[in-house]
Amino acid sequence: MSETTWMVIRCPGCGHCSGHRSGKGRCPHCGTSFPRDIEVVTTVLRADALQMEVALANTPEPLRDELRKRMERDVKNINTATDASPTTIFRALREAANAEGELTTVTVEGVLRRMGAEQSVDEVMTRAETEGLVLRSGRGCWMLLE
Ligand SMILES: [Zn+2]
Repeated sequence: MSETTWMVIRCPGCGHCSGHRSGKGRCPHCGTSFPRDIEVVTTVLRADALQMEVALANTPEPLRDELRKRMERDVKNINTATDASPTTIFRALREAANAEGELTTVTVEGVLRRMGAEQSVDEVMTRAETEGLVLRSGRGCWMLLE
C-alpha cells in the first residue's frame, strides 16, 4: 500500500488554506482553480493531522503557537479519557450496581463500553476480586463488598 500524502495548500485567490490529496483541485472557499505552481504550505501523512495543520495555516502567525499547544492538549485529554483507571471504573461499577449491591456481566459490560475502557469484563472483575472489592456470587454475578 502506498502512503497517502495530504497537502495543505494556500489559495492564490483568497489566501485561505485547505487540505487536498494532490496539488490539483480548487479552493473550497472561493472556487479558484489551483495553478501548477501552487503554494504547498506543508504535507502530512495522516488525515487527522491534516485537519490540525489546516487550522494552523489559517491562523495568523502570532497565534499559531498558542493554538498548537491547545490542540495538543485536547488530543492528550481524549487519550486519557479512553484509558480509564481502575479507580474510575470501580466507582462507575458501584453506581451501576442494583440496590442489593449486585453486578452482572451485562451491567459491567455496559459500564466498560460507556467509559470506552479497553479491559474485558473478566480482567476488571478478577482484579476487583483480588483487591477485595467484590465477591463472586455466581456465574457472571458479583456482590459489592464496600
Ligand atoms: Zn480561495
